[in-house]
Amino acid sequence: MDLFWHRRDLRVDDNLGLAAAAGHGQVAPVFVFDDDVLEHASDVRVRRLLDGLEALRAAYRERRSDLVVAHGDPAAVLPSIASALGADRVVWNRDYSGLARERDARVRRTLAEADIERDAHHDAVLHTPDSIRTNAGDPYSVYSYYWKKWRDRDVDEPAETPDGAALLDAERLSADLDGDVGEDHHVAVGELPSPGSLGFEEPDVDLLSAGTHAARERLEAFLSDDVFSYEDDRDYPAREGTSRLSAHLKYGEIGPREVYFATERALEAAADRPEADAEASVEEFQGQLAWREFYTQVLFHNPTVVTANYKSYEEPIEWRDDPEEIAAWKRGETGYPIVDAGMRQLLAEGHMHNRVRMIVASFLTKDLLVDWRHGYAHFRERLADHDTANDNGGWQWAASTGTDAQPYFRIFNPMTQGERYDPEAEYITTYVPELRGVDPDLIHEWPDLLAVQRANAAPEYPDPIVDHAERRERALAMYKRARGEDPEE
Ligand SMILES: Cc1cc2nc3c(=O)[nH]c(=O)nc-3n(C[C@H](O)[C@H](O)[C@H](O)COP(=O)(O)OP(=O)(O)OC[C@H]3O[C@@H](n4cnc5c(N)ncnc54)[C@H](O)[C@@H]3O)c2cc1C
Repeated sequence: MDLFWHRRDLRVDDNLGLAAAAGHGQVAPVFVFDDDVLEHASDVRVRRLLDGLEALRAAYRERRSDLVVAHGDPAAVLPSIASALGADRVVWNRDYSGLARERDARVRRTLAEADIERDAHHDAVLHTPDSIRTNAGDPYSVYSYYWKKWRDRDVDEPAETPDGAALLDAERLSADLDGDVGEDHHVAVGELPSPGSLGFEEPDVDLLSAGTHAARERLEAFLSDDVFSYEDDRDYPAREGTSRLSAHLKYGEIGPREVYFATERALEAAADRPEADAEASVEEFQGQLAWREFYTQVLFHNPTVVTANYKSYEEPIEWRDDPEEIAAWKRGETGYPIVDAGMRQLLAEGHMHNRVRMIVASFLTKDLLVDWRHGYAHFRERLADHDTANDNGGWQWAASTGTDAQPYFRIFNPMTQGERYDPEAEYITTYVPELRGVDPDLIHEWPDLLAVQRANAAPEYPDPIVDHAERRERALAMYKRARGEDPEE
């Protein structure tokens, strides 16, 4: 009998490790709240994780089984559960981030000491992080070349869903496991902890539904319509033209193969669509799935990027540290409407639109001249879809320190970005109520906005905390010095 250890794959369908375990005999599914992981978690992510686990538990209960829930060090808990159940093998899907790899190596050792077999599968992305390489055999650092190879590779079919009979039934799980297992390991079959019992608080955020069922509904709705105009709409936050699958993909509530083949079917359907760029739009969406895999392999081959710049400069970048400006940015009170709308969306929903993530990240690093690590830490705390590889990739892109990053001299003007991507200020006024009723043209015009405030048209809205034109010059000088260049030239 096998134990299947769920981690970032909270689903029963299209789960390669689970399917392999079920092909071997009976399976008991387990999730372990790992203190080392919880140490880096946040109120929002714990809530989102619990929602995903609730949906996973329901999927097992529908199949007359249940989810075994434990709390502790997986290297100690898993051998105890395996021996209480008489399991001779523990199966899981690989997680490619650095911390997870270290933990998995420890788990392998303790299982080996207990004479329990280990079986790890590739599942989280379509192509393993070392399978797409340059012709010289190196990992890719430029996305467009990576994408060409990614696009042309064959993809394995989705994994088969285990037959209900392959899952250990709930009664047997409870009989063998409820209560303390091994040395003080608390195991509860089907019982999920509260955030409080894990040391977290219930966050005041409006999260989307979790789980495979919700993910499929979202995917189907998106691929039946919005995907065909994705290329035109994806940069406009008020249009809601993106899939909103990111948290589902982060927690593995839907399998990457299932998503990919659904996009392939959309590609076929694109020929009959009225939209001019329907096919290109579906490909553009596949390109975002490839970005996810690109950053997964960047992190896999360069685990130090979590804390260090990917790209080295000749001299250290002289970041500023201004706690008041950082706090205003976090609260969404910078006086720059699109930046504030994005930061307030993040606080309210644990999410932010991609274009706006790029704008607020540029603002923190190139207007406030603050180290990207401050921004990354805040996103890590607040985003429901926080994913080390993607979040780090996004931040280092914006800060011009990453792989295939934004060139240092490209500095978003937050006013023109707002004007271009939210012309009617619909997104802005959704999250910045102080500006409701103000003419969008004024919202997008820096001097007029000040005039509006002075005329008391938006008395509650804060004055801009910095002058973009002045900060832009300072940013250029900061990067030039880091490049060993004369900032005056
Ligand atoms: C500073 C910054 C931080 C970010 N942090 C995260 C993060 O923690 N987690 C995260 O999943 N994405 C992150 N992104 C990428 C992107 O913003 C989100 O994936 C996207 O907004 C999620 O919305 P969606 O599912 O509707 O995306 P869609 O446009 O529908 O894209 C589909 C999927 O492709 C993937 N994807 C899309 N864009 C990117 C990208 N640029 N890089 C990597 N994968 C991508 C995601 O899995 C996404 O769900 C970040 C981007 C920036 C600029």
